[in-house]
Amino acid sequence: MSSKNAYIGLGSNLSDPKAQVTQALRELDLIADTKLIKASSLYTSKPMGPSDQPDYINAVAKISTQLSAEQLLDELQNIEHIHQRQRKSQRWGPRTLDLDIILFGDEQIDSTRLQIPHYGVAEREFVLIPLQELQADLIIPGKGSVTELIEKLPPYRLDKLNNNGKPQS
Ligand code: ATP
Ligand code: MG
Ligand code: MG
Repeated sequence: MSSKNAYIGLGSNLSDPKAQVTQALRELDLIADTKLIKASSLYTSKPMGPSDQPDYINAVAKISTQLSAEQLLDELQNIEHIHQRQRKSQRWGPRTLDLDIILFGDEQIDSTRLQIPHYGVAEREFVLIPLQELQADLIIPGKGSVTELIEKLPPYRLDKLNNNGKPQS
């Protein structure tokens, strides 16, 4: 069976977000036929949607998997479910855990369930900065290099957590 590398974006802003993300990184490694290769640092970011919600903890993980993209999405949604993610009508509202497939090998997918590369990757500092940390020369199919995309971002505010879990000053 052939393996593919995929990049997963993790985000949480409810119920001890740092623990949610740290635990989810371990759970990625427990998915069948899937291994966690490397995780980025944890970052804190301001909410993208409604501003009356807590700040987020974000990270990106590089995994290797023999699953298809759809099978991987099933597994990620199962992990979100275990973390008691509640889907509300409000877009980008607070959540215990969000797991998005950012890249899946060099595949470009546009189906009812999946858009890969993730549609928001080029505009999201909380995805691009951890991606660059994992692989500085990464190219996003159809969108360009991570470095170029970061240069095009508006001035951004993302803090990396140090080992004490505090934003670095
Ligand atoms: P956003 O997608 O803007 O980050 P969100 O992550 O909060 O918002 P969700 O409620 O987690 O959105 O997911 C909504 C739907 O997005 C899922 O049911 C899934 O079918 C679809 N989806 C499309 N492309 C992807 C992808 N690359 N990774 C994860 N889900 C995706
Ligand atoms: Mg998301
Ligand atoms: Mg999602």
